[in-house]
Order: sequence, then C-alpha cells, then structure tokens
Amino acid sequence: MKKSVRDVDVAGKRVLVRCDFNVPIKDGVITDDSRIVKSLPTIRYLLEQGARVVLCSHRGRPKGEVNPKYSLAPVAARLSELLGQPVPMVSDCVGEVAHKAVEALKPGQACLLENVRFHPEEEKNDPAFAKELASLGEIFVNDAFGTAHRAHASTAGVANYLPAVCGFLIEQELTAMGGILEAPQHPFVAMLGGAKVSDKIAVLENLLDKVDAMLIGGGMAYTFLQAAGGGVGLSMCDESCLPVAMEILNKAKRLGVSLYLPVDAVCNTSVDSTADPQVFPADDIPDDMMGLDIGPKTREFFKQALASAKTVVWNGPMGVFEDERYAGGTRSMVEVLANLDAVTVIGGGDSAAAATQMGYADRITHISTGGGASLEFLEGKDLPGIACLADK
Ligand code: AMP
Repeated sequence: MKKSVRDVDVAGKRVLVRCDFNVPIKDGVITDDSRIVKSLPTIRYLLEQGARVVLCSHRGRPKGEVNPKYSLAPVAARLSELLGQPVPMVSDCVGEVAHKAVEALKPGQACLLENVRFHPEEEKNDPAFAKELASLGEIFVNDAFGTAHRAHASTAGVANYLPAVCGFLIEQELTAMGGILEAPQHPFVAMLGGAKVSDKIAVLENLLDKVDAMLIGGGMAYTFLQAAGGGVGLSMCDESCLPVAMEILNKAKRLGVSLYLPVDAVCNTSVDSTADPQVFPADDIPDDMMGLDIGPKTREFFKQALASAKTVVWNGPMGVFEDERYAGGTRSMVEVLANLDAVTVIGGGDSAAAATQMGYADRITHISTGGGASLEFLEGKDLPGIACLADK
C-alpha cells in the first residue's frame, strides 16, 4: 500500500499537489467541473492541516507551447468558488513568478500554477525541469489518477526530489481497483466490451488468471465469434487478432474460466443506416449486416452469469451506446450491476460515461476516474505516477 496525505505531517509545509484539472472549457466557461470537484477532498484536507498548497495540472495538449486556450485560469476561478477562499492563478509553473507566489502563501492557503504542459520538458520528464518544479514544494502529493500512466515531470519526475505520497483520489483507486485485483471476493466476473480487441488483449490476459467468468460484448466480441468459426457479416472484426482471440478462448478453457460470448446481436447495414435494426444470432449475421449491440437473449444470459457474482469489473460498452437504438445492451448491463449485491468496479472512460449518463453512478461501488490509466492498471502494469510514491 502507498503512503497517503494522512501519513505525512504537512502542517506549515509547502505541498506540491498534482491534480487532474483537465476539464472541458468552452468560450472560457467550464462545461463539466467534476474533475475539480473530485480533487476537493485532498485540497480541503491539506488546507485544514495548515499546509501551504501549491496546485499544478495539465490541461489539453498545448504541445509544449504557451497557449492561452489551454490556460488553467478558469479552474482557479472555479476552485476559489468551491473552496470559498481565493486561489490565485500563477502565470507560470516554474521560475521567479512561481517562487514568489509560493513564498507568499500562508498556512491554509493555496495557489494554482499555470499548465505544466506549456513547457516541452514536462512530457519529456526532463530531470532539470522536474527538479525546478519540485523546488516549489517540500512534499509531493499525486492525486491525478488520469495521468498516472504517464511518466511526466509533474506526475513522476518530481518524486525523485521530494517525499511523495498519494491524495485521496488515487488512494480510492488503489483500494478499489487494486483491492479487487489482489484479493477479490469470488465469484469474480469480468465484463469487457468496447471497440478494439487490440486495445484490450493485455487486460483480457491479466484478468483471465484472476476471474471465474468473463463476459465479452461490444465490438470486440465479433473477433472472438469469428475465431470460434461464426459468421459475423460486416461486424467490427480485427483479423490480425484472430490468433490471439483463439488463444484466449483456449486459455479460458484450460483455466476453467467460463467465457461467455453474445448469442444474439442487434444489427443494421451500417451505424448510420436509418433502417430499423434487426436481431440475428451473433454467430450467424447476414453478410450485409453488422452487430451494433448485444441482443435480448444475450442480455438475459449475461444477467444470469452475473447473478451470483461477488465482484465485478467492467470495461467497455456492450454496443454503440452513443446511439439510443444501440444503447439497450449497455443500459441493461448497467442496471444489472447497479442491482447486484457485489463489489462493482467500472474501469475506464466510455463505460464510466455510460453509467453516469444512464443515472446509475451512485449505485456502483467504484467508477474509476482514469481512462487509459485504469486500462493499464487492469493490465497489471505498474503506473509510473503510482510506482514513484512511497510505500507504507
Ligand atoms: P473502447 O474505447 O474500446 O471502450 O470503445 C468504446 C467504443 O466502442 C464506443 O464508442 C462504442 O460506440 C464502440 N462500440 C461498442 N460496441 C460496438 C460495436 N458492436 N460495433 C462498433 N463499435 C462498437
């Protein structure tokens, strides 16, 4: 387990906190502040403990250049409102201006440094830049799970120069996601979907060693159905992944893991076709049709496979849920998860978005805040932004 902010004495200290303030901003207005809201528990705790809080983050992809479009200034304004105290914006994250702003901080005050990605050295994890950034603090707190899979100066490099611990957000991710991977309650079921098999092979392989059952839906299911000899028509199928899909099917058999593939699919001639969708057997889809959602029989079959689960991890939608005509499979699976008496964890961007959009977020045990980061976590990889933190 990693040390957290609770394990260090922060009173009166300059604490450099890496947050994920990568929020969408349109015409200078933040359109979704949930990432800022999620960072509040750590920031509030540090302020209450009398720390001098130096916040930093990236936003967007300014490619190492100063670009006002990607300024964090709107975040500083929103943070000030949410915290009920001023959070001054500092026009650079390093250099004299940053040092002056930090020196002016009193215990219980915070400031926000400008976008770390305005400097090309950030993404290169340049040691001199990391050292300069680190010189603003006496302790480093990483609370940006969404960028923890990146070895950048502000996510990992600074930890070479400062005692480093996690904030509450990362701690939560480690407890929930790490907990289920290390010591899940059985039966442990993984449900995987989404578009590309190639993106998820490592996740499939890592989870296969740990789960009792695996459900595969979404676009990636068709590669498995084809590998098993089925006819999938025009459905998304990654030919280059057929051998590995076959290997996974065989490995599941060898390990005694029940691997469930869709038995029927909601199909159309293309995603954009305005014709009425039709349901076909998932392994016998007509040549001019593609599977765009799991069908009604599959939903029932998956529901039964989940019924006795004590732990469920889910990544990737069951269909093209962005289109209401193909959202039914994903919605029914979110509903099943919400009603299970089990630890339920959603790792990843699209499935997290689906659960939130469909109104079930508060009935899921944990919804990971990181897309790429949670995938890498589920792959069993060491994330640089977490590996660099001190162990308890
Ligand atoms: P991922 O990022 O791999 O989790 O993939 C998410 C995307 O997969 C979403 O945008 C879905 O629209 C897409 N998707 C899910 N099922 C299908 C399908 N049967 N055919 C094509 N795309 C799909």
